[in-house]
Amino acid sequence: MSEDKAKEKETEAKKAEEAQAEEKKAEEKKAEEKKTDDKKSVEERKAAKLERDTREADKYFYPNKWARIVLTSAEEVMGPQGVRSMLNMAKIPQYIDNYPPDNMKKEFSFGGVGQLQQAIWDMYGARGARVFAVRAGEQSFQVGLSQFKSVATAAQVAMRVGSLEAKVKLGLEFFSKLFNTVTDQVVEVSEDEKHWIWKITHCPVCWGRVSDEPVCYLAIGVLQAGLSWVTEGKKFRIKETECKAMGHEDCIFMIEKVPVE
Ligand SMILES: [Zn+2]
Repeated sequence: MSEDKAKEKETEAKKAEEAQAEEKKAEEKKAEEKKTDDKKSVEERKAAKLERDTREADKYFYPNKWARIVLTSAEEVMGPQGVRSMLNMAKIPQYIDNYPPDNMKKEFSFGGVGQLQQAIWDMYGARGARVFAVRAGEQSFQVGLSQFKSVATAAQVAMRVGSLEAKVKLGLEFFSKLFNTVTDQVVEVSEDEKHWIWKITHCPVCWGRVSDEPVCYLAIGVLQAGLSWVTEGKKFRIKETECKAMGHEDCIFMIEKVPVE
């Protein structure tokens, strides 16, 4: 009798084990399916982005002057011949030796900005694009700012008082307003405990591009330059955590509140 019971127990245990294994298998299968689904939906989102960006390539614009600044700072890095090749690669040869005029008219399309960024990426790789972006960002910022002297001076006076955190907050609000006013780029600023969050919903830098990694280095370069101006030379760690080029909804940049140096 007790032997039977032992056997029964053994069978029960075995059954339970089998059921468990079965369950685990089902779970694994589900996870695998979800992975393929996620992958598929990422690819679908990227395809939808490309389609929309192509359709709306001439709907949103940067001011001529800002595009001109990007080109002249590119010239400093790669020389006039380099810029010519870049404009060819970006499929906007109409700007060869014919930079956009020095005015604030919104005429340089987001499509063009994205193609330029892609050409830089193709010519110099991800690392080169990063180096270039920091340089171009700084220069764009300096020149851009000189166009808004009265506003900038007022902002700087306001930023003189208060803590570092208050300065950065005011600065980011000021920059986002500037972008939202003089370009068709749309920026929202928010924060969590450790970061300032810079969200671009209409991003020219990755316009028409898809990628497995974030690509909006130019935005990081400009932010870095802006924050350095606001804080008299402090450097902040900035990371693009989500990028429309990867199929995300927006381009999101996390700025650490505590500066590096
Ligand atoms: Zn972007």
